[in-house]
Amino acid sequence: MALDTKGNGVTQVAVVGAGTMGNGIAQVFAMHGHPVTMIDVSAAALEKGKGAIQGSLARVVKKGVIDQAKADAALALVGVATTLDAASKAELVIEAATENPALKFQIFSDLDRIAPAGVILASNTSSISITEIGAKTRRPELVIGMHFMNPVPVMQLVEVIRGQATSDATTRHVMELATALGKTPVEVNDYPGFVSNRVLMPMINEAIFCVMEGVATPEAVDTVMKLGMAHPMGPLMLADLIGLDTCLAILEVLHKGLGDDKYRPCPLLRRMVAAGHLGRKAGKGFYQY
Ligand code: NAD
Repeated sequence: MALDTKGNGVTQVAVVGAGTMGNGIAQVFAMHGHPVTMIDVSAAALEKGKGAIQGSLARVVKKGVIDQAKADAALALVGVATTLDAASKAELVIEAATENPALKFQIFSDLDRIAPAGVILASNTSSISITEIGAKTRRPELVIGMHFMNPVPVMQLVEVIRGQATSDATTRHVMELATALGKTPVEVNDYPGFVSNRVLMPMINEAIFCVMEGVATPEAVDTVMKLGMAHPMGPLMLADLIGLDTCLAILEVLHKGLGDDKYRPCPLLRRMVAAGHLGRKAGKGFYQY
């Protein structure tokens, strides 16, 4: 296994996708001393992603978690690239591109060709089958889900998803790596939505149905869940944070993969995505940003 090849505890990481999750994942690796290359097809996304890391590091410094020198050192470890070829020297690849099965299958088939043999290819997918992703490569035993939560630098959980062919050694490495990053990994098996989104998304979808049917305003729905159920954030504000396009994509996977209409995406969610009201990243969703 080609993690940490020099035995110095430093892993060369490639993160595919520089969006909401990709830049957060890159930041966490860099803060732990690992050189990271963020790869995105969009130069604008890379610029925005690097800016997001800079802003997030500044907040961490302000809170006194790390000093300025450590933040500067972390930022200096983050490189950017616009083609997957930049993964050719990686010792670990984490894919965090758009939640679209065909796109991810293509990326993994390409990564399998580009990344050195023996390198683990992890996906941050919220819902797409790790088994199917692994089957697009000649190294399914090295393909695994490493599902970080949003915002990555803050959230404790990493859901580690074993595909049908994922090896014990790969799972062990990724569990240990997540722990070394200061996270708490939880191992789950590969079924649609895994655990996190299988439980979370039906709640978010139901909250959207409540708005569509006029049961209550988004503010009222969120207040009920915050004050009544002690959730730190209401489901609609959380949906805006996740991205409504991502929520829709996950619900489609649950609906298709489990074949039960209880997972059907709410028509209002479809309408908002069609309008480009994708939540926080678009400046507009259930709330204005
Ligand atoms: P995002 O839309 O913010 O970013 C996706 C990025 O992928 C974009 O910058 C896009 O340009 C890039 N991209 C698209 N095609 C690419 C390609 N072929 N090669 C390289 N880059 C490409 O999305 P996100 O919210 O960061 O989600 C990324 C992944 O993380 C998805 O699989 C999503 O399900 C998962 N995830 C998201 C959240 C969340 O709260 N947003 C939480 C956990 C997991």
